[in-house]
Amino acid sequence: MFVPAGFNLRHPVGDRHSFLVGVCILIELKRDVDMESAILSVAGMSKRFGGVAAVRDISFNVQAGEVLGLMGPNGAGKSTLLNLISGEHKPDSGTVELKGHGIIGLSRHRICHLGIARTYQIPQPFVNLTALQNIAVAAEYGRGLGKDAAESEALQLLDMVDLLEKKDVLARDLAAITLKRLELARALAASPTLLLLDEVAAGLTEEEIPRILEILQQVREMGIAYILVEHVMRVMTKAVDRIIVMDKGAKIAEGSPSEVMGNRKVIEAYLGESE
Ligand code: ADP
Ligand code: MG
Repeated sequence: MFVPAGFNLRHPVGDRHSFLVGVCILIELKRDVDMESAILSVAGMSKRFGGVAAVRDISFNVQAGEVLGLMGPNGAGKSTLLNLISGEHKPDSGTVELKGHGIIGLSRHRICHLGIARTYQIPQPFVNLTALQNIAVAAEYGRGLGKDAAESEALQLLDMVDLLEKKDVLARDLAAITLKRLELARALAASPTLLLLDEVAAGLTEEEIPRILEILQQVREMGIAYILVEHVMRVMTKAVDRIIVMDKGAKIAEGSPSEVMGNRKVIEAYLGESE
């Protein structure tokens, strides 16, 4: 076991000062380890739209390979938070670090190149390209693959999200629900370190849920961390390691799925929504 200088294991009470110094060093070391393994670090992030405080003083970390759930009633600020991380919007205050490098103010493309890819709550495909072309373009420009390699990567990803038979269909002719999976494949084509997924399971039937859970599990096995915004509780509780709950722009709870579901503030926020 590693024992920092000043930490007296045998006589902690006898030498109170060195004991306290040791504890402080251990806390510092633990913080450094957390910071080192955090791929995303958001601190004090706020964003207003006119009179609406969409995101209020939000701070959290995402560790490498971790799956973080983001929940909250409609209008809680979830999509805005993703937009602030992906560079769609600029925060009024706060910082976002990806692997220790500040990314606020960088263009969306630069942020994507640095390793953050996303899907949108309302899908935004290239409507005049086929499913295959949508993904191949992301592999080619997002990841720098040659044309053939990008196409073969795109075919594999289409297969992964069960869209291989739709490969030659124009995105504008695909159903909204199918576009969600297309966007997931397109985001994966950029080979991200962190994925931001905004309601990928919205609109799915009960029978379709197990399959999206399998696909999400595959993403996890690829070692990609992701933040999952989701209303479908079955997806949320099965897919994530940890949940943050937002209400009216602020973080009201954070913990394991079971901790968060039993939290009084969370229950009240959702009850308030149904009134
Ligand atoms: P959620 O995704 O949790 O449903 P949003 O982040 O979409 O919530 O919205 C949070 C609040 O910010 C809402 O009141 C919404 O109307 C407002 N908002 C979001 N985006 C914009 C925008 N581009 N312009 C003005 N208001 C916005
Ligand atoms: Mg939203």
